[in-house]
Amino acid sequence: AEPALAYPARAVVDLAAIRDNVRALADHAPTAQVMAVVKADAYGHGLVASALGALAGGATWLGTAQPSEALALRAAGIAVDRARVLTWLYPPGAPLRALVEAEVDVSLAARWAVDEVVAAARAAGRTARVHLAVDTGLGRNGIMPADLPDVLAAVARAQAEGAVQVVGLWSHLAFADEPGHPSVVAQADVLDEAVRLAERAGVAPELRHLANSAATLTAPRTHYDLVRPGLAVWGMTPVPQLGPPSRYGLRPAMTLEARLATVKRVPGGHGVSYSHHYTTPQDTTLGVVPLGYGDGIPRHASGGGPAGAPGGPVLVGARPGDGGRVLRVAGRVCMDQLVLDLGPDAAERAGDVVTLFGAGDGVEHDGVPTAEDWARAAGTISYEITTRLGARVPREHV
Ligand code: PLP
Repeated sequence: AEPALAYPARAVVDLAAIRDNVRALADHAPTAQVMAVVKADAYGHGLVASALGALAGGATWLGTAQPSEALALRAAGIAVDRARVLTWLYPPGAPLRALVEAEVDVSLAARWAVDEVVAAARAAGRTARVHLAVDTGLGRNGIMPADLPDVLAAVARAQAEGAVQVVGLWSHLAFADEPGHPSVVAQADVLDEAVRLAERAGVAPELRHLANSAATLTAPRTHYDLVRPGLAVWGMTPVPQLGPPSRYGLRPAMTLEARLATVKRVPGGHGVSYSHHYTTPQDTTLGVVPLGYGDGIPRHASGGGPAGAPGGPVLVGARPGDGGRVLRVAGRVCMDQLVLDLGPDAAERAGDVVTLFGAGDGVEHDGVPTAEDWARAAGTISYEITTRLGARVPREHV
């Protein structure tokens, strides 16, 4: 069935934008390969279709947090000659044998993981391709430098036995979204030291990798042999303070649109939505948008309220400057719906399409609302806006 008919809203994902964004990122890091990070359903954009879009732009690697996401890529037919896949987050007992058999590269972030991957490789009768994750300062996943000698000794034994091949040595940055922050270079220095240690232990990695989107765009020191952008692949900028997506040659891939479910006249002084955080200032027209927090629209992007906060922006009509206008959510975002005050002279009718965010640079730049604008209204980051978009909103890849 046509998804747009099954649900009154849809997220249109532009695969050409994903392709072009990867090309732009490759231009920013000319010495490195690109791993498109497609975890969390490609930040809500749809795992397999989005991954294919990224590969079309020249990405040679795909990265996922969870093993199931990596296996889903392989199950969808993305074979190893098309894309290397790395997965990096799992507790003891993960399906490492299945990963090895599916030719998925596995990150090792603890001593027990070395033992488990060796057992998996033996069981599969294959060599596991591994990447050593080092905590160079993020304070999250990864081997502490002090624990590295012990892990390296175990990896060296496994390598001698043919159980593992050390493909990568890698880490993740804590302050990449604050360009110029001294910890970026400090973490790169720690990574360099870890590489020297590995080489002395006889397990020289083929690839070093550190950079996420922000570092790909702003910190060449971190590019090494491979960069791992996620957010920027989807056309959102990780450093909004430095300018909109187009400044980096990016454009948002996802457009979230909905058809007005109700359009009706109400008198001035009419309270709108739960707790009446918005009251119509005059006789006006209200429009009901059939998207709410059940679809991942943040309730924190409600409008009005005690602080009089501006709600999330919605583009009504054509593009800005072409008869379109940006309105803010009136009153509380509900589970399934939110309300707009379309104004006293509204010409909109039920069924008309409105756009919550799309392929532009933001309300303040070119007038097209973006996920970044929604993030600002909700007090969060754009990552959360697309990643939390509900499963019931159909994704349409074009
Ligand atoms: N690498 C790792 C280990 C990550 O966890 C992530 C996502 O958080 C990325 C790369 C991509 O980060 P970003 O979306 O900021 O480019």
